[in-house]
Formats: sequence, C-alpha cells, structure tokens
Amino acid sequence: MDANSNDNFVAPEDACPNCGERNADLLVWLDDERVECQRCKTVYEPGGPRDDR
Ligand SMILES: [Zn+2]
Repeated sequence: MDANSNDNFVAPEDACPNCGERNADLLVWLDDERVECQRCKTVYEPGGPRDDR
C-alpha cells in the first residue's frame, strides 16, 4: 500500500475548515450537503460558503 498516495484526497476548498483534513476516508457524508470530519468531529458544507442564492 502506498501511504503517500494523494488519490483519496478531496479538493482544498472541500477540506475540513477546522483542522484542514483532506483525506476522504476521514470526511464522512452525513447527508447531501454536510460532511463530518472524523478527525475533529466538525460538521461542515464542502465547497465553501455559497451566498449567491
Ligand atoms: Zn477536521
């Protein structure tokens, strides 16, 4: 196994806003919009704030 592979990393704008986690294995979808970071337990909406609607 290659522990240094970046294949499982999400985009920087989708990273955890609290701890910066980008490993998709640690970012679990709760529903269609929200993700829970398994590292710091922060729940957030990936893709950054959307104030265009
Ligand atoms: Zn986090």
